[in-house]
Amino acid sequence: MYSLRCFQCGSGFLSSFNLEAPICGKCIQKAKSLDSTIDYEKACIKCGKSGVIYRKEVCHSCYFGFEKKEEGL
Ligand SMILES: [Zn+2]
Ligand SMILES: [Zn+2]
Repeated sequence: MYSLRCFQCGSGFLSSFNLEAPICGKCIQKAKSLDSTIDYEKACIKCGKSGVIYRKEVCHSCYFGFEKKEEGL
């Protein structure tokens, strides 16, 4: 596990990935609601869901590794 600091709000959190742009569960929820950050034309190369992070090839869950970890932190 990596101890990271959210680049949005500055709160610390743990992730199993060493993220280049660390973001906490709360901010990810906000980011998810911003359509401008998501490219719905593409599908995630990891899980196949449609909707990837703009200019990336994976969805939020796969990119940030928050699939099941975001609760309880
Ligand atoms: Zn945050
Ligand atoms: Zn995915």
